[in-house]
Amino acid sequence: GTIEQEVQKRMLDDRIREMFYLLHSQTIENSTKILLENQMISLMGLSAKLEKLEGSEQERIKHRSGITQRILASIEKLQNPKSCGDVNTLVCNLDKECGFGCQLHHVTYCAITAFATKRMMILKRDGSSWKYSSRGWTSVFEPISKCSFDEAVGKTELKPFTDPSSARVVSLGIVDSLLTKPAFLPQAVPEQLLGNLTALHSHPPAFFVGAFISYLMRFNSETKQKLEESVKAIEFEKGPVVGLQIRRTDKVGTEAAFHGLKEYMEWTEIWFKVEEKRQGKKLKRRIFIASDDPTVVPEAKNDYPEYEVYGSTEIAKTAQLNNRYTDASLMGVITDIYILSKVDYLVCTFSSQVCRMGYELRQPAGADDGSKFHSLDDIYYFGGQQAHEVVVIEDHVALNNKEIDLKIGDKVGIAGNHWNGYSKGTNRRTYKEGVFPSYKVINDWRSFNFEALLD
Ligand code: GDP
Repeated sequence: GTIEQEVQKRMLDDRIREMFYLLHSQTIENSTKILLENQMISLMGLSAKLEKLEGSEQERIKHRSGITQRILASIEKLQNPKSCGDVNTLVCNLDKECGFGCQLHHVTYCAITAFATKRMMILKRDGSSWKYSSRGWTSVFEPISKCSFDEAVGKTELKPFTDPSSARVVSLGIVDSLLTKPAFLPQAVPEQLLGNLTALHSHPPAFFVGAFISYLMRFNSETKQKLEESVKAIEFEKGPVVGLQIRRTDKVGTEAAFHGLKEYMEWTEIWFKVEEKRQGKKLKRRIFIASDDPTVVPEAKNDYPEYEVYGSTEIAKTAQLNNRYTDASLMGVITDIYILSKVDYLVCTFSSQVCRMGYELRQPAGADDGSKFHSLDDIYYFGGQQAHEVVVIEDHVALNNKEIDLKIGDKVGIAGNHWNGYSKGTNRRTYKEGVFPSYKVINDWRSFNFEALLD
């Protein structure tokens, strides 16, 4: 179809979902609500069907894969120069003081910064010292460059990163320490790709970030083999699987609220009902659970006997605090993220970097999975990102003092979606912060001229 057709189709899908959130959040329980919910589930099934219709979807998958290949080839070119010792280089310290998802996001930030400033990215000492593995980065992944740290950097003095910088070798700190946010930071999309991606994908920034993560997470053969075995155990060929990522232990009460299994299962069940409408047949309920809480899998098996439950209590045990930084826990979190990138739908809290990685990693794979998730808390974000803005497409007059006025064309900085039909944000025109109906705005993705992107 035309770009316009694709964009409108996606918007329709989005509007239906927002309306479902509004309806579903109503506390009244009566037959009208039940009837309306069932009608909306039917509508969401139809909308999903439209996206997956044979023929045109094959074409779109081809185009999306082409864009992914273009990004990957551009990264590869920059990462593998003819001679290692004279190209501009950015040094990234793998061992940020945080968990695996956080560290990988840090390296992703390094990779995007290097790409934007046309530098080769090298891990400090090739990532040989890593709290997750005494064997370093290459214990699980392919090296990120054919150049070693010694060849590329050697004894060259490391200058702190600035943009621009005349130093051949610069070292990048953590994103949290930036005083001003460079225009290439997520969720910026290459201006060369934004038009096509808007037509082909419902979340271009996650697609772009995901391409970097899939470059970084090129598994070595040993890891690949283990992952294939784990995937085989889930028997994807038997039918759709919903992935739940349930982040508990140290996160609860500090960075996120507790969410019971029931809440995850509610959205899982809704997805299965929609998918049954799309496929026009009954589906066996199957879920994969990733968690750092080993009690969740037994709880699910016990409380949801109609569900086939996959997920490892052992992985969750090694994911717990005292066990976290071991080779076993590294393989555990990689396996969980990898499987979360393969499931048909994701239910999780986007406050967790593990969940966001599963979401990001799946985006450049071919299908449009930009809206194949339900987050119980945050909307998608990349830590340290530039303000996420939307643009108003329908006027709004505040109905109470919690709401804000909107005028067509206003830009609004988004703080979150309450998943009840309303979002929260700050109107850049009036400087007022408050809630407004989510359906009255559309994303206003930022773009940047990434010169390293090959034609
Ligand atoms: P966040 O704290 O959830 O944002 O994610 P981080 O990756 O930064 O830190 C959490 C760490 O806890 C992970 O890196 C894992 O070591 C462990 N962890 C958390 N959730 C899971 C999970 O679902 N599966 C596994 N295997 N490990 C997890």
